[in-house]
Amino acid sequence: MPAPACTAPAIVILGASALATARRIQQRYPEAQIHGLQGRVEAPERAYTQFGEHLRQLYASGTAIIALCAAGIVIRSLASVLGDKDSEPPVLAVAEDGSAVVPLLGGLRGVNRLAHEIAAALEVQPAITTSGELRFGTCLLNPPPGYVLADLEQGKRFVSDLLAGETLRIDGQAPWLDSARLPLAADARHVVSISPYREADDRRTLRIHPQQLLAYATQVDGDLVAGLQTLLGEAGVARQSLACLAAPHALMAAAELQQAASVLGLPLRFVDQPQALPPLHSRNALWQLHMASAPLDPARIGQPRGTLTVIGLGPGDPQFMVPAARQALDEAQDLLGYETYIRMAGPLRPGQVSHCSDNREELQRARHAFELAARGRRVVVISSGDPGVFAMAAAVLEALHASSEPSWHAVELKILPGVSAALATAAKAGAPLGHDFCMLSLSDNLKPWAVIEQRLRHAAAADLVMAFYNPISKSRPWQLGRALEVLAETRAAETLVVLGRDIGRPAEALKVTTLGALTPEQVDMRTLVIVGSSQSVRFARADGSAWVYTPRSYPAH
Ligand code: SAH
Repeated sequence: MPAPACTAPAIVILGASALATARRIQQRYPEAQIHGLQGRVEAPERAYTQFGEHLRQLYASGTAIIALCAAGIVIRSLASVLGDKDSEPPVLAVAEDGSAVVPLLGGLRGVNRLAHEIAAALEVQPAITTSGELRFGTCLLNPPPGYVLADLEQGKRFVSDLLAGETLRIDGQAPWLDSARLPLAADARHVVSISPYREADDRRTLRIHPQQLLAYATQVDGDLVAGLQTLLGEAGVARQSLACLAAPHALMAAAELQQAASVLGLPLRFVDQPQALPPLHSRNALWQLHMASAPLDPARIGQPRGTLTVIGLGPGDPQFMVPAARQALDEAQDLLGYETYIRMAGPLRPGQVSHCSDNREELQRARHAFELAARGRRVVVISSGDPGVFAMAAAVLEALHASSEPSWHAVELKILPGVSAALATAAKAGAPLGHDFCMLSLSDNLKPWAVIEQRLRHAAAADLVMAFYNPISKSRPWQLGRALEVLAETRAAETLVVLGRDIGRPAEALKVTTLGALTPEQVDMRTLVIVGSSQSVRFARADGSAWVYTPRSYPAH
């Protein structure tokens, strides 16, 4: 049976007392995340600060909501955004002790089915209030995944006819109706028709299309959407009977295909052997239409296009991670990175695989990421700060550049920016990077020390503000001291220096000092060093500490 089309539900809790029930529901939906109120739930998978606002955002994004709190709170929170009934996501209130499951909204998006599933998991009866469902034991307008109602308005008239006393018969295979309490009669004028074919509108026919069709693209030179519509029309089948699009691996990176899949709202799979597909039904220059005898599960056909997303966590505080990176983490199947970073990115959902390594070989990790993504996995490579600043993004590109493996180049590769340590430290101190600056890594693991010294000299001569990454470590004990000597050749001893240690993390410490007073002992590998320019200044903050900034303009201006 195909997976439900909707995205994973959000399980929203207000306090720790609901956690046990939330976890039982999560066992039923391993993809679902538990959203907890910041400060009241320890280390929630997703933290929110304002319940009503959070619920409205989830609702607006079409996410199914399972709220473990009083129904009244949910209703009041969503009251202002209750709009279009046809597109509303399922919303349920569940008693925090698991004793009651109340479907509230989303009748046409399967809320009652969710209620039955959650109630079964909690071993209670759901509080179903829908008249059609109570009377017939099923909601005819809401067929299970793999089946699509052809026309909602027509369906509503059909159900009201039934409620008014009409009988019906079933034409086709509708296994989920076997256990329903429908007023069946062999000579009924009303018919539930389960068929992939298009039929003329008829008030007495409720048309449900099983998704048993697959459209296989054989090339992309032409208007794919129009070509498919023509083929469907000629074959006499309904558009809603399509379960997915598919294509050979060679077309994996074709933008036209991605575009067609997104216009049609269908999953896109890649498979090379036609014998792995259902029997051929009809074809034209662009597409082959294949028809199975029952609904198809796209997840079992070939593989999807894999994705590799390189993200940065920011300095540490989750508030400084960009939302796109958070989303990539939530959607990831495989996570690669140093163990510390994977821990910071968590907690992980059940089923997410972490490939942590303290492996210093970044290229090897990058290659591993491509191997996984080429198999169709959703892979995220994690760096701290920004992934492009002395981190994994360059290693990932280097691995790809060196590879002639077509399946690696077909992966959907994205690099998402993050808040780099220099930016986070600068913001804490004020605005030391307010004018021209450069970022340097003082590590001579990957470049000769002579190059570092030369760059330091040039940067110092250019009067640039400098941000030093990797300033010192146990295996590189003398380099920072030497760097300070080089700077002292041209820079005044009063030059301001900002030391940011563990910025955005619980042990955060910020120190403002001067080049003359700075010694390597004040710095470790978790420190970011900013050396000001001749223009950088400081003044006292009200709390006794100092603001540091570099003015926007030079005095001669
Ligand atoms: N990609 C990262 C940098 C990785 S290099 C970024 O953009 O921030 C590692 C160095 O970054 C460390 O040695 C330290 O100098 C600095 N760094 C990373 N996170 C930091 C933090 N939270 N506070 C201070 N410095 C940090």
